[in-house]
Amino acid sequence: MSEIPRFDAIVVGAGPAGTSAAITLARAGLRTILIERGHFAGAKNFFGGVLYTHALADVLPDFWERKPPFERPVTEQGYWLLSPDSVVRLMHKSQHYQQEPASAYTALRANFDAWFAQQAAELGVLLITKTTVTECVRDGNGRVIGVRTDRPDGEVHAPVVIVSEGVNNLVTQDLGLAKSDLPPRFVALAVKELIALPRKELESRFNLGGPKEGVAIDIFGDATLGLPGTAFLYTDQQAISIGVGMLLGEFVKHRVKPYEVLARFKKHPVIQPYVAGGETLEYGAHLIPEFGYDRMPALAADGVLVAGDAAGMVDAMHREGTNLAMTAGRLAGETAIEAHRQGDFSGAFLRSYRKKLEDSFVLKDLRQYRRMTDFLDQSPHFMGTYVNYLNEAALKYFNSHGIPKRDMEKQIFDLLWKRRSIFGVAKDLMGLRSGMRG
Ligand SMILES: Cc1cc2nc3c(=O)[nH]c(=O)nc-3n(C[C@H](O)[C@H](O)[C@H](O)COP(=O)(O)OP(=O)(O)OC[C@H]3O[C@@H](n4cnc5c(N)ncnc54)[C@H](O)[C@@H]3O)c2cc1C
Repeated sequence: MSEIPRFDAIVVGAGPAGTSAAITLARAGLRTILIERGHFAGAKNFFGGVLYTHALADVLPDFWERKPPFERPVTEQGYWLLSPDSVVRLMHKSQHYQQEPASAYTALRANFDAWFAQQAAELGVLLITKTTVTECVRDGNGRVIGVRTDRPDGEVHAPVVIVSEGVNNLVTQDLGLAKSDLPPRFVALAVKELIALPRKELESRFNLGGPKEGVAIDIFGDATLGLPGTAFLYTDQQAISIGVGMLLGEFVKHRVKPYEVLARFKKHPVIQPYVAGGETLEYGAHLIPEFGYDRMPALAADGVLVAGDAAGMVDAMHREGTNLAMTAGRLAGETAIEAHRQGDFSGAFLRSYRKKLEDSFVLKDLRQYRRMTDFLDQSPHFMGTYVNYLNEAALKYFNSHGIPKRDMEKQIFDLLWKRRSIFGVAKDLMGLRSGMRG
């Protein structure tokens, strides 16, 4: 039998979390192997999506000189509140978005993840693709000492393993760190379509001045049938990323299918003109963990750390996931480096990773929104009743010519009381406050 290869660290999964961990380890001179099940890093990955450069710069300070394959900078962004026949738009555009590198870019994960993993390889990481980690290897004391893969003789050893396998966290579950039976109300399912349009046509539809301008819009209300969830419309270079996402529990409860919700959304009179005539390049579905702060797996044990979606690190309120993943990957990498310096790979030592995360925006934000899913569950009016009300109120406000303005104001309030009692509104606002403030 051939000798089992040994590294200083093993990283499972070459998504934003895993590649960030691997780069951090390699920069400190540690012999690191990054194992990815896809044919190439990014082959199986997709998101909305908007990437945030603050987290990337923390991992790879010279990322801009390395020419990342971004699509467009986000130079205009905001929210659309969609009723069945109209929209209230809250958009932000500013000269501040013109700086380079911008703070956020749209991207396609097949391109971005492949580029990011390539940077890791150039920094000395051994990137192995087409290889699935099937489980962690433990010694007689239960300490993780390596991984087993689906390759013949595919066992690899290291004193520390960073698991960044994404939302389908089977290895994390197998370690007993995560539960395998999370209720469907804590996992969202998103479907996305990539629709090609000629560059000039796309720029004219979204009022963009050229390839260095781009839009990111998150849409609520009728887009998800008035149910808790979000839709999105982002501009890539020559395509639109359009999608909808809802908690799995909502699909089940209301007996709707994800692809039906997306098809309906695309036909909405406000949305249809943006996608008309485009050619579908890609279509896919992906889970988003929304466990929240209170249901996260244990983040460390003897010889092992967990980072990114595998640990439920997604802030759905602000459509942030990749930056939490990159930051967690980097902090896991830094913890593993310290463990090497101390020669201590025990769970007790590795749990300093959690403290690092608690001190960063990652767990501060997840803690702040820990009650958001419960709130949306208990206050279903926000995505339906109030969005429709705002659209009707806007119609009244902008069209009440020749009516005394005091009467118009009363009519606008009456529209609200017709839908929801004053006590109902007060209860919803208190629920919102608690959802936003943890
Ligand atoms: C539709 C949608 C829209 C989103 N929009 C945004 C957005 O606009 N902005 C944003 O910041 N975030 C967004 N997110 C969230 C974001 O995509 C995730 O939070 C982020 O990708 C998490 O990174 P990760 O590295 O933890 O996991 P992943 O990106 O899932 O990477 C995990 C990697 O591990 C590999 N892997 C899994 N199991 C194994 C195994 N056993 N062995 C070897 N390899 C394995 C996978 O192939 C994959 O490459 C969106 C998500 C979805 C689904």
